[in-house]
Amino acid sequence: MKDKHSKIFIAGRNGMVGSSIEIEFRKRGYEKIIGLNSKELDLRNQADVEDYFSKEKPEYVILAAAKVGGIMANMKSPAEFLYDNLAIQNNVIHCSYKFNIKKLLFLASSCIYPRLSPQPMKEEYLLDGKVEPTNEGYAIAKIAGLKMCEMYNKQYGTNFISVMPCNIYGIGDNFDPQKSHVVAGLIRKFHEAKIENKEYVEVWGTGDARRELMFNEDLADACIFLFESYSGDNFFNVGTGKDISIKHLAYLIKKAVGFDGDIKFDITKPDGMPQKLLDVSRLKDSGWVNKTELEDGIRKTYGWFLKHHT
Ligand code: GDP
Repeated sequence: MKDKHSKIFIAGRNGMVGSSIEIEFRKRGYEKIIGLNSKELDLRNQADVEDYFSKEKPEYVILAAAKVGGIMANMKSPAEFLYDNLAIQNNVIHCSYKFNIKKLLFLASSCIYPRLSPQPMKEEYLLDGKVEPTNEGYAIAKIAGLKMCEMYNKQYGTNFISVMPCNIYGIGDNFDPQKSHVVAGLIRKFHEAKIENKEYVEVWGTGDARRELMFNEDLADACIFLFESYSGDNFFNVGTGKDISIKHLAYLIKKAVGFDGDIKFDITKPDGMPQKLLDVSRLKDSGWVNKTELEDGIRKTYGWFLKHHT
């Protein structure tokens, strides 16, 4: 896809990932980006989604809409994570077939891989074992979505591609302490502890779990790179190729925020998957490289938080 006048529907346009994809598209000169927020269009409603496709007639679709959240949100509402995501992706993927979309890119997640997968995780490890129970609903939905893309290509000859991003953080993230992912959650906790002169900050789990963390602008860049350059039956892991322990991450965030107190690990809270590191050679071999180092990404995200949440 190179025509800058093409009409592109970003489902989830206002989310952290969708909005960064829109910014990257616009930087590259794409002008006709469409998409509504969840109040204007409930993507879980099949009739509404069909109506939107038939009125707007998009040519390309980025499926970045999803019910997302950190480890606690996933554990609290597994049914919602399963149902909302299945409904959204069923409607958007099926309509993309029905309305002859030229290409669709589906964003899944690295949590599709087995909990005890060998590390780093290669694309072919999918369905080799049981997924992590703390996010099973979300993972099962995302596996169904990527299989749906694969099977629609096989049976209907569509051009639907999927990416599996590692843990994403960044500009526009959700900083709600109970619902957020680890980077946004800890930025908020350390910031509030600094303002309130607290003695320590509580970090969930043992601190030993390891995560691969990518800045949302880099994910957006990778998505557009693949959207412009790849058609076929492979799906792609998208990550930095490096992971970090939650303990080390907590120290980086403490430093970036400028908090002087201690860190305590609350081992009554879960670690989730022990390690989640993607093998990104398939993406690297296609010529894509990650740009933002973790320290830089944390600094930018904290700057955004200060502007918008204080
Ligand atoms: P996950 O990859 O699905 O487990 O997503 P999260 O980003 O929610 O959590 C990653 C890891 O960070 C887990 O081991 C959490 O227990 C740990 N963690 C430590 N403190 C926090 C926190 O304040 N919020 C979140 N979300 N995770 C935390």
